[in-house]
Amino acid sequence: MLQFEEQRMTSGGAAGAARAGQPPAAEAEALRLRRVDVADKRIINGQTDVNQLVPFKYKWAWDKYLSACANHWMPQEIQMSRDIELWKSPNGLTEDERRVVKRNLGFFVTADSLAANNIVLGTYRHITAPECRQYLLRQAFEEAIHTHAYQYIVESLQLDEGEVFNAYHEIPSIRDKDEFLIPFIDTLTDPSFKTGTAENDQKLLKSLIVFACIMEGLFFYVGFTQILALGRQNKMTGAAEQYQYILRDESMHCNFGIDVINTIKLENPHLWTPEFREEIRALMLKAVELEYRYAEDTMPRGVLGLNAAMFKEYLRFIANRRCQQIGLDPLFDGAANPFPWMAEMIDLKKEKNFFETRVTEYQTGGALSWN
Ligand code: FE
Repeated sequence: MLQFEEQRMTSGGAAGAARAGQPPAAEAEALRLRRVDVADKRIINGQTDVNQLVPFKYKWAWDKYLSACANHWMPQEIQMSRDIELWKSPNGLTEDERRVVKRNLGFFVTADSLAANNIVLGTYRHITAPECRQYLLRQAFEEAIHTHAYQYIVESLQLDEGEVFNAYHEIPSIRDKDEFLIPFIDTLTDPSFKTGTAENDQKLLKSLIVFACIMEGLFFYVGFTQILALGRQNKMTGAAEQYQYILRDESMHCNFGIDVINTIKLENPHLWTPEFREEIRALMLKAVELEYRYAEDTMPRGVLGLNAAMFKEYLRFIANRRCQQIGLDPLFDGAANPFPWMAEMIDLKKEKNFFETRVTEYQTGGALSWN
């Protein structure tokens, strides 16, 4: 806005040029030289006009924005009647299965609000590439859709809202994960925080890594796996379908974040010091421990063919992958994926929707009704 105002004030056309005693041709040339040069664009600390989406430099961000829009979905399109029936039937689910569902919602009902606030009040301000801002705007809306989906499940099952929405204060295994995240969110949302020094740029980079690789890339995965495992056993299929869409969105959020992180590294190699890398590795280790404790709390016994020990391996596998994606050595030797079916879930395609419920095909477009 400032740049626009400034430009408007200095470009009063021929009359303005005459008033300033400047020949119109020279003024036109000066304005032309002020146009955005793609080579000058930067993910952080850029000096180019953030209102000009093109010329594109970060085509990957624009492509992810287009893919995200093509994946559009809304929670209320998914039938919840079978879930409601099962939840209300006294023998529909075991106590352990109910605990999994309630803990899951307890974590997720507030997690995506934390994510949305982190984007809107934090990350967005510090990112100076308009292609990335465009994706972040879409991502912020998706976080709202996810919160809507969890709220819709809570409402459908008539759960105690006070209990579910306060779980992040009241359930230690959930509270500990959020307390781990909050300092990194606070860094970015602090109105006085500004990038431009190596120290602050490292703080920003660290928060971006925590957000993409740990929050969206690790802390969501015990919960996603549990609910999708219920769906695979033909239980809570409406909730499972919602989670399937959320997982697809979240895996794109995580991949976008990783692309942002790696591009910041390329543009600012001085930030990627050995000390910084050690700090990130320590955060990853801590995160695996917290998510494992959450797994134990949600599954005190084996449930749905899953148990906490399987998640220890899975979380190590995911942490290795996140490290590798941002150019760090793996943390755990030889960790394998005990849930190969989760990879298929992430690559959700219409024809692969094994729940065989309705999938709205937004990709074709033109389906709007104004009646
Ligand atoms: Fe997200």
